[in-house]
Amino acid sequence: MSDLERLQRKLDRAVAARKQAEVILEKKAIELYNTNQKLKKINSDLEKEINKRSEALIKSEFKYRSIIENMNLGLLEVDLEQNITKAYPLFCQMVGYSEAELMGQNAQDLLVVKDFIPILEEQHILRNKGEGHAYEIQIRRKNGEIIWTMISGAPFLDMEGNVIGSIGIHYDITDRKNMQSELENAKAIAENAQKAETQFLASMSHEIRTPLNAIIGMSHLIHDTNLSLEQKEYMEILLSSANILQSLISDILDISKIDAGTIEVQQRPFDIVQLLKSLERTFQVKLDSKPVNLILNIDATINTLIVGDELLINQVLLNLISNAEKFTKEGLIQVDIQCISKNESEYILRFVVQDSGIGIEEDKIDLIFQQFKQASAEIRETYGGTGLGLAITKKLIGLMGGDIEVTSALNQGTSMSFELKFKNSGIPTKEKQNLSFVNKEYSDVQKPVLVVEDNKMNQKYITKLLQKWNLSFDLAEDGIQAVERTKSKEYAIIFMDLQMPRMTGNEATNIIRTTDNPNKSAPIIALTASTLLSKKQEALSLGMSDFLSKPYNPKGLAEIIDTYIDRSAPKALDESPEEFQFNAQLNVEYLNEMFDGDLEYAKDMFETFLISTPPDFKEIENLLNDEQILEAGRRAHKIKPTFIMVGLDQLGEDLQELEKIASAGKINESIELYKKIKIYFNDHVNLVQSDFE
Ligand code: ADP
Repeated sequence: MSDLERLQRKLDRAVAARKQAEVILEKKAIELYNTNQKLKKINSDLEKEINKRSEALIKSEFKYRSIIENMNLGLLEVDLEQNITKAYPLFCQMVGYSEAELMGQNAQDLLVVKDFIPILEEQHILRNKGEGHAYEIQIRRKNGEIIWTMISGAPFLDMEGNVIGSIGIHYDITDRKNMQSELENAKAIAENAQKAETQFLASMSHEIRTPLNAIIGMSHLIHDTNLSLEQKEYMEILLSSANILQSLISDILDISKIDAGTIEVQQRPFDIVQLLKSLERTFQVKLDSKPVNLILNIDATINTLIVGDELLINQVLLNLISNAEKFTKEGLIQVDIQCISKNESEYILRFVVQDSGIGIEEDKIDLIFQQFKQASAEIRETYGGTGLGLAITKKLIGLMGGDIEVTSALNQGTSMSFELKFKNSGIPTKEKQNLSFVNKEYSDVQKPVLVVEDNKMNQKYITKLLQKWNLSFDLAEDGIQAVERTKSKEYAIIFMDLQMPRMTGNEATNIIRTTDNPNKSAPIIALTASTLLSKKQEALSLGMSDFLSKPYNPKGLAEIIDTYIDRSAPKALDESPEEFQFNAQLNVEYLNEMFDGDLEYAKDMFETFLISTPPDFKEIENLLNDEQILEAGRRAHKIKPTFIMVGLDQLGEDLQELEKIASAGKINESIELYKKIKIYFNDHVNLVQSDFE
């Protein structure tokens, strides 16, 4: 190949290569253009997005700023030394300084009222640990005015998480604090007024009670003298009004004590079975003139003394049974004490008092627990009453930790019930029976006792018992006489009435305890007429040794004497061989309580029993044979108390059972039970007889 040809070929190749390069270039240029276009688009989208977000940010900041501004919160930022690094306008407004005046100043020194610096320092320590809290302190404004602020503080952190200061949100609570202290003042004033009122009510009702007792006592005496029919009628009106007044006053006294919170719920072991029995005796007499059967049931598992307030339980049951008796013309009143649960340490008992009386309309049930409220206006006209009983009952049950429930239907009857918890004393119920002898002998006691009492009837009551027990005594009519007597003579016990003219029992006790006399440390027993024992604490705090609440019974008095008397050889009559004792198979406790050593009286009753009961028994037998079962039940009900009165409790209980099944019309069971009763009666009637042979 010639050189020319080679050259030509080279040239052709170069041309072809260039063409190819041009094609590639053109392609790349197009690609570049496209990419450029895309980038432009992305850029513009990005710009749009940024604009959108900035706008949202501005809006959000505006929103939160306006919230904070409108929230009336003052923001303040400080460094670790409490020096102000930023103050927001509302804070400046709150404290009356401009931001320029505040910057760099120490917040604690400039603003905080001295008394609150310890609180702030405590908060400061927490803040440095990174903890936030809210607290209330007083701040002094620029013009000297003091305001209350609530501060919610939180630590400020740097990028590494170190605490570099704190921010406090201040809220002005001055108005709230002022209102609070005004409220506290008003509350204290109201409480004082209420206390004064309760005190007044309590002393007034107490003062009224004493003369009222005399009025009632004297009226009874006059009533039993030779009066014309007209005079008798007047005396009866007088007596019934005095009785109403007496129960009203004692209700008001109770309410005022409950409201004042001065009632102590006593925790002492007592025999609930005995309590129920004595309630039965009380109501049996009332119900004898009415065709109403009273049935009392107590769970047999309750065989130990329960620990609680016997007086309060008695008052509650007395109120409920009295209401049942009042509002029931005929039919049945039933009292049940059920044992819901029992273990070694505790009883839960349910008390139910139900009757077949007039009932209560459903929408009146809440009303009847309010003070002075009755179910209707006619109730007062027909039945009398004041509407206080249930209010007291509900409150007393509440004090003991229970709540009263009512179910009732008009003209069908009412059931009131409540549940209470009691500690289990573990002491078997029988043990208590040995405790209640009231025949006492104190002739071996060397020193006399001093009775300080202004009321004549009370004087007579206590001195008669002391005479009977051969315990010598002196009498003082008031505090002044008591102080006089204690100066020269040493007493074994001083019985001190609290409310007396000239000088009260408290004042006299104080003098005896603090001046030189031989009775400085003698036992002083407060005699208080307050039925609900609220005076106990007061008596003890005034230096007395114990208290005895009026009206007290011989047993209560003897227990106190035994506790406080100092004697070398105690001698009680129940241990002396020459003293008469009832047969141990009879209810000795009840017989002693009932006849209190009066053998003539006991003999009289036993003889009447021996003469009158056999015909009554015959009568029941005849009625059962004639299938006059309801009437037989009624007779059983009638003669039941007679057996209790001669100490034959088991027969009393069997007759009660007979009454129950006979009223239910169970003829065969009634006859069976009667046979059992008859055998038991024949066995035991001799016991009664032998006691007086
Ligand atoms: P009082 O008996 O003095 O009226 P209470 O507070 O004891 O006061 O009773 C308030 C009212 O509740 C009674 O007036 C009577 O309307 C109604 N009430 C209470 N117990 C019974 C009951 N067992 N049966 C029917 N109504 C009753």
